[in-house]
Amino acid sequence: MIKQLPKTDYHIHSEFSADSEAKLKDIAEAAIQKGYKKIAFSDHFDLVPSEIAHYGVPSYYNFSQAISGIKKVYPEIKILKGVELGEYYQCHELVDEILAIDPPDIKIGAIHVLAPIDGKSIRNISLPLKEQVSPRLIRDYYLENLRLVEHGNFDILAHLGVYKRYLEKEPDESCADDIIEQILKTIINKGIALEVNLSGKRKRLNSLVPGESLLKRYKSLGGERVTIGSDTHHVNDLDIYYDVTVDLLTKIGFELINKV
Ligand SMILES: [Zn+2]
Ligand SMILES: [Zn+2]
Repeated sequence: MIKQLPKTDYHIHSEFSADSEAKLKDIAEAAIQKGYKKIAFSDHFDLVPSEIAHYGVPSYYNFSQAISGIKKVYPEIKILKGVELGEYYQCHELVDEILAIDPPDIKIGAIHVLAPIDGKSIRNISLPLKEQVSPRLIRDYYLENLRLVEHGNFDILAHLGVYKRYLEKEPDESCADDIIEQILKTIINKGIALEVNLSGKRKRLNSLVPGESLLKRYKSLGGERVTIGSDTHHVNDLDIYYDVTVDLLTKIGFELINKV
């Protein structure tokens, strides 16, 4: 039964993201070789000022042209044009205006940065943390995700719990229990899929993001829609832990794996 699921990865970065140098061609060829039937290049499209100040303005036009080109070169695999929208609810008007001209195939909503506390700088929680994990940080992180999903207008919620990737072990998140429950109920109501992000397995935490207990909780609340995203930034990241993740999701009882 597991093998009948067409191999799919909805979260791959390429050189069109500031934090990746991977070539579309190299990724497409590796994906074909590893038996993938569908992949989405979901490059960063971050239009909040703090991200633009760090990484520059991404060119959606150049990205879109390149994806159209690569689709023609590799017709044997379905290649989607995706975008990972950082802090989407904060900049949705501008994002929507740009994407309306040439809509992507898939939109992933993500949180990477939190507002500063006490006049300090923006907290980037997708990188190794500069501060101790505190109940305040955990609640701020999940509140930001709640705002994101309440805004909606995207297909997949990316890497819920990403701030933990570089920690040694899973922190106690009971302080944010109520917020996490609201996030899960909101995505279920809105038909937004929950991404199972494999990057945490490649980093210090050595766990899926979100982890097994949250996935079970989502299922128990009625969640069915899960997608697998490797969050590949280098061609070697692709496919690591994919099969064990499909096994786990099947064991938990998900029926809508990778169906968005
Ligand atoms: Zn991300
Ligand atoms: Zn990503």
